[in-house]
Amino acid sequence: MAKQPMLKFVQIEHDMPQKRDASVRKEDFNEIYAEYAAAKAEEQASRCSQCGVPYCQSHCPLHNNIPDWLRLTATGRLEEAYEVSQSTNTFPEICGRICPQDRLCEGNCVIEQSGHGTVTIGSVEKYITDTAWENGWVKPAAPLAERSESVGIIGAGPGGLAAADMLRKAGIQVTVYDRYDRAGGLLMYGIPSFKLEKDVVERRNKLLADGGVTFKLNCNVGEDISFEEIRSQHEAVIIATGVYKSRDLAMPGSGSEGIVKAIDFLCASNKKSFGDNVEEFDNGSLNAEGKKVVVIGGGDTAMDCVRTSIRQGATSVKCLYRRDRANMPGSQRETQNAEEEGVVFEWLSAPKGFTDDGGKVAGVMVQKMRLGQPDASGRQAPEVIDGADYVEEADLVIKALGFEPEELPALWGQPELPVTRWGTIKAAFQTGATELDGVYAVGDIVRGASLVVWAIKDGRDCAEAIIEKLNSKAAVAAE
Ligand SMILES: Cc1cc2nc3c(=O)[nH]c(=O)nc-3n(C[C@H](O)[C@H](O)[C@H](O)COP(=O)(O)OP(=O)(O)OC[C@H]3O[C@@H](n4cnc5c(N)ncnc54)[C@H](O)[C@@H]3O)c2cc1C
Ligand code: SF4
Repeated sequence: MAKQPMLKFVQIEHDMPQKRDASVRKEDFNEIYAEYAAAKAEEQASRCSQCGVPYCQSHCPLHNNIPDWLRLTATGRLEEAYEVSQSTNTFPEICGRICPQDRLCEGNCVIEQSGHGTVTIGSVEKYITDTAWENGWVKPAAPLAERSESVGIIGAGPGGLAAADMLRKAGIQVTVYDRYDRAGGLLMYGIPSFKLEKDVVERRNKLLADGGVTFKLNCNVGEDISFEEIRSQHEAVIIATGVYKSRDLAMPGSGSEGIVKAIDFLCASNKKSFGDNVEEFDNGSLNAEGKKVVVIGGGDTAMDCVRTSIRQGATSVKCLYRRDRANMPGSQRETQNAEEEGVVFEWLSAPKGFTDDGGKVAGVMVQKMRLGQPDASGRQAPEVIDGADYVEEADLVIKALGFEPEELPALWGQPELPVTRWGTIKAAFQTGATELDGVYAVGDIVRGASLVVWAIKDGRDCAEAIIEKLNSKAAVAAE
């Protein structure tokens, strides 16, 4: 009888790829986790229990066929593992790096639930596709036949690019418009390199271009080209513009110099890593070097800001969050990484204003909180503890309070663009179709600030819906 390659979770312990020591990794912007060696990836994949109802798969937004590619990896059939993995995910090596696995696939792994420690699904997924790239298995789109129809995609983030990939593979002509100078959206200019090195994104952009996707970069829709013009040039348009309006703090002193938005701070840091000339970084306004930094917020963006500040050479980095550790929205893994790197968390602390010195921020007036009764959302609402206020010294304050959509109907002069009361675009579930004929929307601009994996899922679903629609139109025309 053949030897059972799987179900090794009792004999073999959960083992993540090696994490670089905090004292070393905080000196650079390189990724913090090493790659598995082949034997280690096989060993860790073999821990999967191949359970009848794979909760990992149902909790992966893409419903990745995880048990199958784990089994293929455990038995050394890596090229097949790659084929299975890429059949449901456009960017598996990116998701493997930055999905909050503890809340998705790994958090629901059956052996994690039974106390054995999850299968390291994300790290194996990353390993499979990084190996595929090394071996030349990742190929540009090569459609069987070219089609005359074209689709315009506004926004080169993961949502727009996932749609572009599927549409090109079906032979449809694709033009992607983006106001940034590089494709990738937040993969390129939001998420720091210590989570996702930029050559991983750049090789994907090149692959798409090699497969025939046309990129029109430095093209701000609404300014450089109108939405109507794009609509008139293509059979369908996908809006994949993400959400970029930073939530603000309206409180005494909030206009002082040295209080900046998270997205500006992270974007400047990422641009600098490409060797770009970034004036606001060079003149110190978006640079944490030598400063006492306070970051306000408890989500993943706040974690990226604190860890970027550490790497830029801040003298101290503190994170203020109004709830406690258990209730923070950011990933626990990222919080732990930040703590290891020297970030100090001030839980149950909220700003109520800022002190300044000649117009420059000098401190954050902090009020201490406790958690009270659950509010309408079911979460315990923070309440102020009277008499416990103090001032936290700061010469750079970074606001990481979340994002809202820009007002696209007004910005694009398209009052008929259907939006919700939150300003996100109203689009049908699983197709992204809006009420406007031929206009679709995907990713954060539909969901509000979300995750890369959800943007990929939306982009793929939307591309499928468009292909189906174009096919039926072509069939009617042929009749
Ligand atoms: C700092 C930060 C860290 C994050 N970390 C993670 C993480 O670790 N894991 C995770 O899963 N998710 C993370 N996210 C969330 C994730 O990045 C987003 O959910 C995802 O990128 C959304 O994809 P998208 O394609 O909808 O939009 P985006 O990635 O935002 O891309 C939108 C694109 O549209 C372009 N655009 C906008 N308006 C116009 C216009 N008028 N004309 C032309 N182009 C336009 C923008 O330039 C951009 O390139 C993070 C987000 C932030 C801000
Ligand atoms: S895409 Fe994300 S959630 Fe799905 S298997 Fe990969 S890491 Fe897990």
